[in-house]
Order: sequence, then C-alpha cells, then structure tokens
Amino acid sequence: MTGREYLAIPGPSVVPDAVQRAMHRASPNIYDGELIEVTATVVRDLKWVAGTAGHLAIYICNGHGVWEASLTNVCAPGDRVLVLDTGAFAKSWATVAQAVGLRVDVLDFGLSAPVDPNRVREAVQGQDYAAVLMCHVDTSTTVRSDVAAVRAAMDGSDALLMVDCIASLGCDRYEMDAMGADVTIAASQKGLMCPPGVAFVWFNDRAAARGRADVSPHWSWGARANPEMYYQHFHGTAPTHHIYGLRAALDLMKAEGLDAIWSRHARFARAVWAAVDAWGAPMALNVADVDARAHSVTSLTVPGAEPLRAWCAAHTGVTFGIGLGREPAEDWMRIGHMGHLNAHMVLGGLAALEAGLIATGTAHGPGALSAAAAVVAEGGAVGSGSVAAAGCCC
Ligand SMILES: *Cc1c(COP(=O)(O)O)cnc(C)c1O
Repeated sequence: MTGREYLAIPGPSVVPDAVQRAMHRASPNIYDGELIEVTATVVRDLKWVAGTAGHLAIYICNGHGVWEASLTNVCAPGDRVLVLDTGAFAKSWATVAQAVGLRVDVLDFGLSAPVDPNRVREAVQGQDYAAVLMCHVDTSTTVRSDVAAVRAAMDGSDALLMVDCIASLGCDRYEMDAMGADVTIAASQKGLMCPPGVAFVWFNDRAAARGRADVSPHWSWGARANPEMYYQHFHGTAPTHHIYGLRAALDLMKAEGLDAIWSRHARFARAVWAAVDAWGAPMALNVADVDARAHSVTSLTVPGAEPLRAWCAAHTGVTFGIGLGREPAEDWMRIGHMGHLNAHMVLGGLAALEAGLIATGTAHGPGALSAAAAVVAEGGAVGSGSVAAAGCCC
C-alpha cells in the first residue's frame, strides 16, 4: 500500500521519525560515556512527565511486567489489596496480584463508569489493605477515573495508592505527587511514543519505606532507582536503543510542554467523540459522562465492528483497536488517539472509518467529518505529528 500505515490503536502508538532516527545507530559503549549521561537525563525527565520528585525504577519488560514489579516490592504473600475495577486492565492487574499470592478484593464499577470515591471510602474503612490499585485510564473501556478524589477517599487508610497510567501518561493530565499517588506505572509504547519493551515504576518515599527486603533481585526496585553501578539500573544490560529513543521522545515532549500535550489530546478526543455522536445510533460511545472519558483512546459500539476494522486495515492503511473485554467483542472497537498525532492524522482516521461504514453498509448519520473538523478548527493548533506535504511538486 502506498503512503504510511497508521496504527490507530491504544498502543503501540505512532513512533515519531525523531525517535526512529535516534534508535538507528550502532551499539553504544555501555561502560562509560554518553549512554550513562543520557540515561541520567532520561530518568530526570521521566519524573517530570509523571509529575513526581520521587524515585524511578526502569524495567526491560512491557506493562504486564510492571504490574508484577510494583506489587512485589511492597506486598508480601497474604497481604490484602483492593482493586478498583473499571475494565479489563484492572481485572488483569487483579489476576497478577492473585498470582503473586495477595488476597484480592475487587470493587466493580462496571464497564462504562469511573471509580466512585464514596464506595472506596466505605470499602477501605477499618480494613488493613496494603494497597489500593486503580487504572487512571482503563484502556478497554476508555473510562478515566479521578485519582485525586480516590486519594481523598482513602483518608485515614495506610494503604498505598498504586496507579496504572500506561494508557494515560503523556496524554491525560497526570501529576503523581499533586494527585497523591504513591506508586505509578507506565510503559514506553503509548503516550511516550517509543516501541514496546521498557516499562517504569515511579514511587514516593512512603512507598520506598514499605520496600520489601525479600523481593527477588530482578524485580527489586531499590538498586534500579539508586544504582551504585550502571548495570544495576536495569539489573543487567541496559536497553541501549530504547534509552536513545526515550531521549528523543522526551525532547519532543519538552518542546511541546505538558499543558499543550494534554490540551492537544483533549481536542483530538473531542473531535473523535463529535464524529461518533454524528454517526449516531446504532453506533454509540461507551462512556456517557464526558468527564470520565479518556483523552487517549475511545471505545465505541458499532454492529459489525470486526468487518469494519478489517476493511479499514485492508483498504485505507488505518488499523483501529479491537473491542477488548466486551460482549459480544465483534460489536465493539476502539479508536486510539494517543501520542505523536496531528489533526490530519485524526481527521484522516475518521474519514477512513467513514469510508469503511459506507463500504460495509453500516448504518450511520451524516455530518461526522464536519463535526470533527469544527472541533479542530476551534482549537487552531496543528499538533505534533508529521507535517503533510500537501500539493508538493517535487
Ligand atoms: C497497554 C496497557 C497495559 C498492558 O501493557 P503491556 O505493555 O501490553 O503489557 C496495562 N494497563 C493499561 C492501562 C494499558 O493500557
């Protein structure tokens, strides 16, 4: 197919050319010199992205890995944790907690609503939970919950608040220290715009004080966060090329600024919602409450989502996300709009989807693309994606 393929799923996300160029290099010296210095700036700037003055441990793994890493550093088998369930990713984190021997209670908020802090307040009262686990954004339902409100509801509890920001960091406003999270996890391949393979655990002094002495040397966050020797950062060989990729991605983020990144994601999300609203029934957004919608990814129901997705991938170069954790899965899909995007990519993706609706004979109302374009027009910013060479004659 001519033109660029566009993976419009909730990660891996679009990898900027600058990141690809930074990674395209010979193996660097891992003993001394530039790599060691670059690693230090990457650690510093990843704390800036997460909004914390706390500690950072970097792992060579995906998000599933840091689900386990975060738990085993502060919880021992038999400890009780409370999982705030807003979708398939919270459920999966609960499964990991169970598998490492924790006693897991689940508060179920359904598949279209955020965490209700009042229920959290009741649930933690008089209980001895070691930690409360939540997804800032649950990527399956695309529900976003209010982290600061959950923290406030935990007033009086000794439990640590652990937040999965894998689908929100660098997309939706997140400030770990200000919001009161004790532990935050994320991975390289979503808002951080790098290939999958590296994941992160940020933790504050309160969580550090709960750090267990008996955690396995590989998962232990202590030496990773405060290494005496460089290799201890990664408990082995450094993810050399990812470090250069992350440096380039963080440079892009610093140049744009977090407020601008968050508002760009908010605007592109509103463009997507406007289009889906205009297409109308039987299509519908999963989350009715605008304040509980992720700005990084949008779940919607549409009859025949699977042939629609397949048509778009085959004929337009755009791949949309599957309907994870829904019944029936064939009637659900997700539009990813995280990371290195500009307006032409978002609008192009929506136009590709409309072509798919026409081609597959799926019922839909008029005006979706105009509605999305109007949202973009009111914002005025071009975003950070690749500039299209429209009408170029070379
Ligand atoms: C993607 C994602 C994960 C899983 O990450 P992997 O890298 O696929 O292991 C976990 N939690 C959330 C919220 C995610 O979006």
